[in-house]
Amino acid sequence: MPENNNKYKKIGVLTSGGDSPGMNAALRAVVRTCNYYDINCYGIRMGYDGLINDHIVELGPRSVKNLINKGGTELKSARSEEFRTVEGRKKAAETIKKHGIEALVVIGGDGSFTGAMKLYEEQGVPFIGIPGTIDNDIFGTDYTVGYDTALNTVAEAIDKIRDTATSHNRVFFIEVMGRDAGFIALNTGIATGALDILIPEEKDSIEDLFQSFDNAKKKGKTSSIIVVAEGDKLGGVYDLAKFTKMKYPEFDVRVTVLGHIQRGGSPTVADRVLASRLGVAAVEGLIDGRCCVMAGMQSSKIVFTPIEEAIKKHNEIDKELIKVSNILSMQ
Ligand code: ATP
Repeated sequence: MPENNNKYKKIGVLTSGGDSPGMNAALRAVVRTCNYYDINCYGIRMGYDGLINDHIVELGPRSVKNLINKGGTELKSARSEEFRTVEGRKKAAETIKKHGIEALVVIGGDGSFTGAMKLYEEQGVPFIGIPGTIDNDIFGTDYTVGYDTALNTVAEAIDKIRDTATSHNRVFFIEVMGRDAGFIALNTGIATGALDILIPEEKDSIEDLFQSFDNAKKKGKTSSIIVVAEGDKLGGVYDLAKFTKMKYPEFDVRVTVLGHIQRGGSPTVADRVLASRLGVAAVEGLIDGRCCVMAGMQSSKIVFTPIEEAIKKHNEIDKELIKVSNILSMQ
C-alpha cells in the first residue's frame, strides 16, 4: 500500500467558476488517486453552492469512468454569491465537518482559489488548487487545464471563417475570449495567419491597425483576419469594424464573436495529460502535508505555487510571439 503520511481519510473535490475542457479528466485523476492511497473521495456538486447546500456524493474509481474525454464538468460548476460572505463560508464548513471531509481539491480559476483561501483562513479547511480555466491567466503554471483545447477550437473556427473571407475578399474581425489576457488571441492569431492581433496587454492604436491594412493592400492581399481579445482596449470588434468601414469604404467588413463555443468540447490530449498529472499531484501534495498551494506545470515539471502568488501575479505575454506575428503577417 502506498504511503499516506498525512493520514487523510476523506478528501472533497469541486469544480468552480467557468467550466473548462479537462475539468473532468482532473476530477477522474483526483478520485482515482484518492482510491490508490486508500482515501475516500467526495464530489461536491455545483461548486461552492454544493458545499453550502450539502450536495455531496461519494465517488469511487468506477464513478468517473468514461469521463476523461468529456468537456464541461460532470460535477457541475456555479458562481456562488453566498460563498463570498463569511456566513456562507461558515455553512460550507459545517457541511464539510458533517461529512468528515478533511481537505479539498479545488478545480477552478483565481476567484475559486480566493474563496478556498478564505475558507482556510476562517475555518481551517486545507486545500490544493488545480488551475482550470481556458484563459491561461494563472501564475505558476505554463498552461491551465482547458487552454489547449480552447486554442484548437478557436483555430478550427477561424480556419473556417478564412475560407469565406478568401472567397469573398472580406475583412473579418473575430472576437475570442480573454477579458484580461490575450493568450488565446495571440496564439490563435499566429496559428491562423491573422493580419493583426489585438490584446489587452498591448497598447494598440487604430492607426497601427490601418497601417496593417495599407501594408496588406500593397502586398496584394485581398482578405484579412483580425483576431481581437474581448478585453482589448480599442473598443471592441463592432467599433473596430465601423471605423474600418469608414476609412476603407471599399472593404467588405464582417464581425464574428466566437463566444461560448470556445469553452466546450472534448479536451485535447495535452489537456487530458495535464489534468491527469495535476490531479495526481494535488492529492499527493495534500498527503505530503502541503496546503494553500496550486499544483501547476512549468517546463513539463510539477510545481506547487503559494495560492496568493497564483492569484496576484500574472504570466507576462511573450514579446517574442508578438514579434513572430508581426514579421509573418507583414510579408
Ligand atoms: P474563471 O476563470 O472561469 O472566471 P474563477 O474561479 O475565477 O474562474 P469566479 O466566478 O471569479 O471564477 O469565482 C468562482 C467562485 O469562487 C465565486 O462564485 C465565489 O463563490 C468564489 N469566490 C470568488 N471570489 C471570491 C472572494 N473574493 N471571496 C470568496 N469567494 C470568492
